[in-house]
Amino acid sequence: MNHAALPAPGRLGRSVARASVISSAAALLIAAVLLVSFQFISQRSGLLEDMLIQARVIGDSSEASLLFHDGHAARDVLSVLSTSPNIDVAAVFTISGAPLAYWKKRETSLADWAPPLTSYRNFGLRYLEIVQPVLSEKKVIGHVGIRVRLEQFYRRLLVFIGFTILVAIASFAATYLLLARMRRTVKDAEAELNYLAHVDSVTGLPNRHAFNVQLALALKKATDTGDDTALLMLDLDNFKRVNDTLGHQSGDLLLRSVADTLTGHLEKSDIVCRIGGDEFAVILEGQNLRERAELTAETILEVLREPVFLDGHEIFVTTSIGISFYPRHAKNLHTLVRNADTAMYRAKAKGKNVWASFHARMDTATQRRLALESGLRRALERNEMEVHYQPQASLATGEIIGVEALLRWRHPEFGVVEPAEFIPVAEDCGLIGSLGLWVLRSACEQGAAWGKAGLGLLSVAVNLSARQTRDRNLMQAVSEILEQTGLLPCQLELEITESVLMDNMHANIGVLHQFRQRGIRLAIDDFGTGYSSFAYLKRFPLDHLKIDRTFVKEIRHDGEDGAIIAAIVSMAHELGLSVIAEGVETEDQVAFLRNTGCDIMQGYYFAEPMPADRMTAFITDARMANQA
Ligand code: C2E
Ligand code: MG
Ligand code: MG
Repeated sequence: MNHAALPAPGRLGRSVARASVISSAAALLIAAVLLVSFQFISQRSGLLEDMLIQARVIGDSSEASLLFHDGHAARDVLSVLSTSPNIDVAAVFTISGAPLAYWKKRETSLADWAPPLTSYRNFGLRYLEIVQPVLSEKKVIGHVGIRVRLEQFYRRLLVFIGFTILVAIASFAATYLLLARMRRTVKDAEAELNYLAHVDSVTGLPNRHAFNVQLALALKKATDTGDDTALLMLDLDNFKRVNDTLGHQSGDLLLRSVADTLTGHLEKSDIVCRIGGDEFAVILEGQNLRERAELTAETILEVLREPVFLDGHEIFVTTSIGISFYPRHAKNLHTLVRNADTAMYRAKAKGKNVWASFHARMDTATQRRLALESGLRRALERNEMEVHYQPQASLATGEIIGVEALLRWRHPEFGVVEPAEFIPVAEDCGLIGSLGLWVLRSACEQGAAWGKAGLGLLSVAVNLSARQTRDRNLMQAVSEILEQTGLLPCQLELEITESVLMDNMHANIGVLHQFRQRGIRLAIDDFGTGYSSFAYLKRFPLDHLKIDRTFVKEIRHDGEDGAIIAAIVSMAHELGLSVIAEGVETEDQVAFLRNTGCDIMQGYYFAEPMPADRMTAFITDARMANQA
């Protein structure tokens, strides 16, 4: 899998290091030049100073020799200079310019030395020359001249330069080593940052950021070469459930396992990324990708079908896949991603664990779903939700024995939205928990209010969604609501659909027993649609069985469904369950159900779901009619 193709790190580190090396080299060079210049100047003025003192001392000592024109005495004075190795030649001149005495190195010739007889200093390339007047009673009586060879001066300067260069090289080497170490540290940090910025830490796959980069690259390549790009968006169908029931650690393990399975079964050139909680994306590149994309989707569904073992549980994870192609379905990255998402939602709507390829008609459906999802987040605070109640009546006496609470949503744009449409959306985006508790609280308050108003102890049925049954805190929340609203536990009936009940039998049996111990009654909803057997049903502590309305609907036309209902009723009775028929619309159906011994009916024949105030009036009227 090509998830290593991330932008290369180290550019920043390299340029910082290069700049640092250059600037430290320049700083060292400047320092060395300054030091050498300073050394030259101070050495030069030191030498000059020395020679001037020497000249003055000789001048002072030669004053008498000049006055008396005593060459011997002057020579004696000059002979002191033999101890100074640098002095090449020195002489005492009379006022007329004739040398009175001189001292010179043996190899030196006097012929090339004729200094001007005035106060004179000359720092030449090879020699330093000094001429100082000799004064007697403030009158010039002669001159002293000294010539110094500069070889030793330059030798000393050269030693200093050599030493400075050595120090500079050593400092540069130390700086370079330090910088190299710093560069390595910066490079490591950069690599780490780069990794974190582009790689998903749970699965090791490229993350959403890297996905966008990779997809942009793929689209650019496709545009340049005339190839196609296929985008497969994957969303795990039941990941939230694993996270909720087994915890986040297991959730992470599951994601890692899915990532490994995907990378292990797809082509090396396919790019697999994790772009969100339980969302993955696969990018395919090449020509005529349609068949390959569909085959890849099939492969993914196939390989994910294998169970994953987590914490001793066997988990089956499935995924819904949406496919979209560039340039056929989209002209840019943004639309391509949106279309693949749209196709993925379509796959989910088709019943999950399938793939769907994008087509233009899907767009409107997705827009609506997205609008519902964002609308749902604010529906409660905006007072758009309302609980309606549908009465349940005894088939034997016609008396209202309870109500079912059914949620209604008045969407500001779409009008009334069916629960069949928005409940799954609420489930998917995790809002069903708060919504479900709100319905429960409203229904319990209403049931208690009817009791206080003298309308009797009506049972109040509330539907539980799949996600709610998996919520570990549900029991606690229900208990609190009962205590706060004052509804008796025996008045509350929780409805769980057959498919949800069977989905996670073990866990559900435990939850249902807790409710039963609290005195709350339980009903299996939409019975007959989930293909469960009565053998299973025996294990659940149920009170009611609600026959799905599709069976009731067929009663008139088809004898078979009638027979099924009769069988369900008699078997339910044997298990000690009372039976409620849903969706009863006609008198014939009522008569048939009464004949089979069905206990309770609910449906438009008796009453449609209605708001609480109308329901109050309906119950009051029914009570009065019964009494009359
Ligand atoms: P359900 O629990 O099976 O609810 C019965 C559905 O049948 C209700 O649809 C009701 O209006 C409808 N119905 C009642 N009598 C008749 C009839 O004579 N003929 C026909 N054709 N239909 C009838 P509704 O209100 O649209 O709710 C649909 C489903 O949405 C419910 O099915 C339930 O599963 C779910 N639902 C509704 N409210 C809630 C809620 O508060 N929480 C949860 N989790 N699910 C809810
Ligand atoms: Mg129901
Ligand atoms: Mg039902």
